[in-house]
Amino acid sequence: MDKLIISNLSKTYSNGVKALQDVSLEIPRGMFGLLGPNGAGKSTLMRTIATLQDADSGHIQLGAINVFKQRNELRKVLGYLPQQFGLYPKLSPEMLLNHLAVLKGIANKRRRKDIINALLHKVNLYEVRKQKLGGFSGGMKQRFGIAQALLNNPKLLIVDEPTAGLDPVERNRFYNLLSEVSEHTIIILSTHIVDDIKELCSNMAIINKGQLVIHGNPVHIMDQLEGQLYEKAIHKKELEYYRKEYHVINDRLFLGKPIIHVISDSHPGNGFQSINASLEDVYMFQILNA
Ligand code: ADP
Repeated sequence: MDKLIISNLSKTYSNGVKALQDVSLEIPRGMFGLLGPNGAGKSTLMRTIATLQDADSGHIQLGAINVFKQRNELRKVLGYLPQQFGLYPKLSPEMLLNHLAVLKGIANKRRRKDIINALLHKVNLYEVRKQKLGGFSGGMKQRFGIAQALLNNPKLLIVDEPTAGLDPVERNRFYNLLSEVSEHTIIILSTHIVDDIKELCSNMAIINKGQLVIHGNPVHIMDQLEGQLYEKAIHKKELEYYRKEYHVINDRLFLGKPIIHVISDSHPGNGFQSINASLEDVYMFQILNA
């Protein structure tokens, strides 16, 4: 089975920003979540894998393909949905897919039509295939984005921050589509939304400031804080005190009252309760400690 192997990848932009620092990762078939705050280096990593920009050093291998040396080979098996992709608002999905399929070298008209119809069904846009893309909702546009990324039946699909601006129903539909595709494909999904990863990915990594912080499956990653996490509901005006006295990694409101999560080697007493860590706790812990 093909794997994507990223070894010792580094990139410093000309302004001195170290966007990737010695990143090494193995990504198997299925859905891989790349989680990190804005500016962490996610897009740099995605664009480098997609051969859209160069790294300073390191190596990327997809199965037998040496990505930096065999760019065209990689592009043949790559599907890419960038953060922002241009749509031609006056075209219909059917017309634009046809146009893109010609560009991708699917020369036979009959075959092109079959592929496009199958894709339109897959992303649930067949009924609206003749309508203008300009009138589509965010979710429909993203599903079209997946359809165009799947035109060449890729082995590797890269999806950069795909759920921004989608409502929960659209997000769910989009997830289901990705999940179906991931049975046969390596999918890398970059996001700063923890819930995206939790629900969807069998493997994940957290990156921050260009560095790989942790990687593994989400359950293994949550185990990292086992036995060290405690929770307490407090009053808003106490928040500052608790921040000073305890190692608070997460606070959120529940029915208008803050609930804090703290890390402690031993039970802190004082009304705290031991809890299991969520992925968000681990994420906040890693990002705040960086
Ligand atoms: P993310 O996708 O996680 O938000 P990026 O890879 O876009 O992160 O950015 C990583 C860092 O590199 C950020 O500090 C960003 O400002 C910087 N950066 C990204 N692209 C460029 C560029 N073309 N030139 C200079 N700095 C860049």
